[in-house]
Amino acid sequence: MRMKKIAIVLGTRPEVIKLAPIYIELKKSKKFKPILISTGQHKEMVNEMFQWFGIKEDFNLNLMQKNQTLPSITARVLEATYNLFSKIKPNLVIVEGDTVSVMAAGLAAFYLKIPVAHVEAGLRTNDIYNPFPEEMARRMVSQLTNIHFSPTQQAGLNLKKENISKNVYLTGNTVIDALLYTVRKIRDSVEALHATPLPDFKKYRVILVTMHRRENFGEAHRQIAKTLLKILNAFPDTAVLLPLHKNPKVRDVIKPILKNHKRVFLTEPLGYVPFVYAMKNSYLILTDSGGVQEEAPSLGKPVLVLRTTTERPEGIRAGSAKLVGVDPQKIFNETSKLLTNKKAYTKMSKVKNPYGDGRASKRIIEILKLKV
Ligand code: UDP
Repeated sequence: MRMKKIAIVLGTRPEVIKLAPIYIELKKSKKFKPILISTGQHKEMVNEMFQWFGIKEDFNLNLMQKNQTLPSITARVLEATYNLFSKIKPNLVIVEGDTVSVMAAGLAAFYLKIPVAHVEAGLRTNDIYNPFPEEMARRMVSQLTNIHFSPTQQAGLNLKKENISKNVYLTGNTVIDALLYTVRKIRDSVEALHATPLPDFKKYRVILVTMHRRENFGEAHRQIAKTLLKILNAFPDTAVLLPLHKNPKVRDVIKPILKNHKRVFLTEPLGYVPFVYAMKNSYLILTDSGGVQEEAPSLGKPVLVLRTTTERPEGIRAGSAKLVGVDPQKIFNETSKLLTNKKAYTKMSKVKNPYGDGRASKRIIEILKLKV
């Protein structure tokens, strides 16, 4: 029997994290030949992830340019993936999440009438400008997807509301597959952490903070950074670990406010492995990241979400996360509560992860065996 070719398109670190478990499972199967295509969006971060998971791209489109705009990257991904798919003729294209590349690669497959499978299908905030442009990218890709892998029941319901109910499968989120693999592997290879300057987790209760959403650029980030100073001053046993996003629009605002405080650890974006280690050893997490909201409950860490909307209501409903938005008073009050009220802290940290159980990629492969 001829093996079925499955093209997997990715470009950013979160996409590698969520697609690597599927690639690894496909590789093991006798039925499929996975072909890994990188758009080249994140370079070092993606290579580092490939190394960690022991995988390698088959094609790198090297599409990124300095100061690119959303239209230019959309156009370049569309054209380059169209040309490559025409050449390699995959039986299926797999994309994940909500970047403009996902939307463009999906569209390229559609133009060639190649079926598309979308991993992490059905997440919605119902505000097309928040997060921007991700909410639109994931809505559009749902329209041309043939197989939808929804991480949660809610995500499946969201698709149903848009009259998408054919070939929607509840699988859990593969981010937990990758996380559990990583936590297991860190135990065996602590050297993966050596070069990373992390705070002393025994000395401080570390508040891990990440922020990079476009809609919070500028004033919202400034207010959050000032609130972090207020928290540090009110709680002398705490430290803030903040891996700064590469985007100057983020770091130029945050750095001047926080750089001189001796309990603030501003770092470059952390490698995934040190980041998982930091999550595991932190006291609590303040973030606007989607992936981190999904991962934290598996590590027993409460999350305060620095956004006004979320496409991940499951954690909030289950009680592992709270939406605190960008309001300084609310962020201060909720953080203080978790730092002082043991009962409230324990309640948030003991929630069963609503996003996955570490077996999503296995479920996805079983479905692909039936469908492709
Ligand atoms: N992450 C990382 N290093 C960091 C920050 C995040 O490895 O300094 C990981 C994190 O564990 C998660 C993913 O990157 O799996 C989340 O990526 P990001 O916040 O950039 O994107 P989002 O999930 O919001 O799309």
